[in-house]
Amino acid sequence: MLTKNQIYEAVVTDYTSEGQGVAHIEGCAVFIPNAIAGEKYNIRIELARKTWAAGKIAEVLEKSPHRVNRECPVAKLCGGCDFWHMDYEEESRLKAERVKNCLNRIGGENLENMPILAAPDCHGYRNKAQYPVAFKRKAYAGFFRAGTHQVVENERCLILPAETDMVKDAVMDYVNQNKVSVYDETTGKGLLRHIYVRRGAVSRQILVCLVCNGRSIPKAHELVSRLKKIPGFTTLVLAVNQKKGNAILGDEFITLHGPGYIEDTLCGLNFRLSPRSFYQVNHHQAQRLYHAAIEQAEITKNDTVLDLYCGVGTITLAMASAAGKVIGVEVIPQAVEDAKDNAKRNGIENAEFFCGDAGQAALALEAKGIKADVVVVDPPRKGLNADTIEALARFAPRRIVYVSCDPATLARDVALLKERGYVLKNALAADLFPRCSHVESVVTLIKK
Ligand code: SAH
Repeated sequence: MLTKNQIYEAVVTDYTSEGQGVAHIEGCAVFIPNAIAGEKYNIRIELARKTWAAGKIAEVLEKSPHRVNRECPVAKLCGGCDFWHMDYEEESRLKAERVKNCLNRIGGENLENMPILAAPDCHGYRNKAQYPVAFKRKAYAGFFRAGTHQVVENERCLILPAETDMVKDAVMDYVNQNKVSVYDETTGKGLLRHIYVRRGAVSRQILVCLVCNGRSIPKAHELVSRLKKIPGFTTLVLAVNQKKGNAILGDEFITLHGPGYIEDTLCGLNFRLSPRSFYQVNHHQAQRLYHAAIEQAEITKNDTVLDLYCGVGTITLAMASAAGKVIGVEVIPQAVEDAKDNAKRNGIENAEFFCGDAGQAALALEAKGIKADVVVVDPPRKGLNADTIEALARFAPRRIVYVSCDPATLARDVALLKERGYVLKNALAADLFPRCSHVESVVTLIKK
């Protein structure tokens, strides 16, 4: 076991899924923030356990050519980004490696390379922000410090468009001038919890959603006239969340101005987006990812395509013109309403949407005698549940296209599908979150 506060010399060889560096000292894995593979350090041990430890860089002894000066002044404190200390070449390399290593170690593959759709730009790409609000002499908004609920103030977040930060500033001016109270997690008192902003990358429409511990805000008209000065402002919604805990949005939404949703164009289609509906945050990279998924699916006009975890129907509808019929399944009712409306607004008549748990709905569709030639799945980080795996085995589609935001659960599910008669055909990583440690991927499994 390593000794707390002692300094050890070590070289970082790898990264964790959260983007921390990993070094091995005396058989112990040591996790080190802000590290770069290949660098040599003096490391101070901050926490020591039997098989692992957490350390901090005390001194850089050998510097990597990939180390750069951070552009973001709060990067070290803010829990939003992980990689401002390295160049993008190293970031995209480590993301591709992670997907490859997961598929090899957990998925039982033997891949030598992993192509990645690297992002052309790391700045201003995020079309959604959720700022927690806190109080210290005055109310302010920012992002949580990693692993805490301490809000780090950030004047200008570099991965957001400027308009998004303008919304945050306008809301905070309104809050401070009108003495609107700020929610306090420990007492459960106070009104404003989060400022949620979504901006259409193509439409430039802006949806502002205030998450409140209550059902109204004082002087809403005053806030609306401030927001109207921001280019693209379209709608203001109040999200009611009176529950304790970490969930940001509640289930009740009250529209205070405008239609309560925005529109955007993706893959040549027009989409309506409500606050509760999922929509990829990086528009350019999402389009590239979806095009790759469509290509891998090799759909024909005779095919029925089942899209599980379909959100507002982005992938479902983008595949509709190539298929005979497309069916989407999604658990959030608001997203399903959006998906149905999105089919209509694009004149798509061969799409159907169901609200429910992906696995249970798929089992029910299969029991009804529906056949699926191609199934697309795009689950949240926890991956597929047992029902979904079972439904896939029963449908026995020609192809399964798996879009994933967590390579570890993807690889676990690939192994399960291989046991059910599938082989991995294509695998591609995609960077939808430059400067952050998350990585997307899309793989295709074909029936043996
Ligand atoms: N394919 C869509 C959405 C992907 S995100 C797109 O690319 O835009 C994952 C989606 O799965 C979210 O919309 C989420 O609400 C939904 N979801 C989460 N758990 C689910 C479940 N058990 N059954 C069905 N959908 C689920």
